[in-house]
Amino acid sequence: MDCIFCKIVKGEIPCAKIYEDKEFLAFLSIGPVNKGHTLVIPKEHSKNLFDFPKAEESDLVEFLKKVADAVVKGTGADGFNLSLNNGKAAGQLVFHTHFHIIPRFNNDGLKSWPEEGYINNEEMEDYRKKISDSLD
Ligand code: 5GP
Ligand code: ZN
Repeated sequence: MDCIFCKIVKGEIPCAKIYEDKEFLAFLSIGPVNKGHTLVIPKEHSKNLFDFPKAEESDLVEFLKKVADAVVKGTGADGFNLSLNNGKAAGQLVFHTHFHIIPRFNNDGLKSWPEEGYINNEEMEDYRKKISDSLD
């Protein structure tokens, strides 16, 4: 399969490895938002979170916390953002599930997302219902 992150897992492409266990691998992004920006990927290929195997879900949060703690301590960050771009519209460029751990610094100049707001409470209720009714 022509997946760049699978090639990293197999050692066919080098990476700046932070840590790995049986299921997951953490390494530095080559295009850091802030230096120390780390990617966490499951070793098994899945294209996004919806495709991510259930069996691995239970160990994921523990792995993310361990790596995020090291990112914060190692870079001297004041906080971090944990994010996942799911789908092209959300900015996903590499279609192998991955989480971004981005170290954040007081006054690093990065802006949070703008807030759009709802026209009124009815519109908010409409969105609440549409999403709630879509739960499987
Ligand atoms: P996405 O936009 O898909 O959520 O994020 C892709 C991430 O992978 C970006 O942080 C990008 O800089 C990083 N990236 C893309 N190609 C490579 C690569 O070959 N090696 C490493 N280490 N990171 C990569
Ligand atoms: Zn892959």
